Amino acid sequence: MTFAFTPPSIATVAIENSTALFPVHRIYCVGRNYAAHAREMGADPSREPPFFFCKPADAVWPADRSVGAGDTASLPYPSATSNLHHEIELVIAIGKAGHEIPSTQANEYIFGYAVGLDMTRRDLQNRLKDKGHPWETGKAFDRSAPISRITPVAQCGHPSKGRVWLKVNDQLKQSGDLADMIWSVPEIISHLSTYFELQAGDLIFTGTPEGVGPVKSGDLITAGVDEIAEIAVRFR
Ligand code: MN
Repeated sequence: MTFAFTPPSIATVAIENSTALFPVHRIYCVGRNYAAHAREMGADPSREPPFFFCKPADAVWPADRSVGAGDTASLPYPSATSNLHHEIELVIAIGKAGHEIPSTQANEYIFGYAVGLDMTRRDLQNRLKDKGHPWETGKAFDRSAPISRITPVAQCGHPSKGRVWLKVNDQLKQSGDLADMIWSVPEIISHLSTYFELQAGDLIFTGTPEGVGPVKSGDLITAGVDEIAEIAVRFR
């Protein structure tokens, strides 16, 4: 087979204690999966359930996997926004294909867990929301999904509780707990797999707790989920 031009390289995420890379198939995201964050976004979590949106696979960052634990990834401040927001999230890494997966079997499909930042051009997203337009330019831009190494299930099990935190320049901005997710990890996989055939290589961002806010050029974000992973990103 020949290609008309060199095909793009596949997006990958590093795996803790492994030289193998996790090849990314798709990135799914859950919106408003913590009640307090839904309220800070002006929604009523008792009336509107969480929902899904997507980012392109190559939104993961750093693309250069030589960045390891304890290193800080460097990102350019994105174009076309003056209100870039951080959202720290537990990320599920799927390791096996499945469709219409019962929540009781969902854990069998999980390769591991990471933490990720669902970076958001909030000014654009708010304008798109007002018009009922799709969210892509607000959510699915280049390098909009910084992610830690993936911790395999064999090392971390299946967390149902644990602190989710994010600091900007060492000031605590987001602090929540996995136990406060409206849809649990197995419920997310079960719901999502009714809409899409999940594949090995899918990443699922599971939603953010309250406290989202702006990031400026020069800011350092440190964030994590206890017992899972941490991430450090500086915007230049
Ligand atoms: Mn989010």
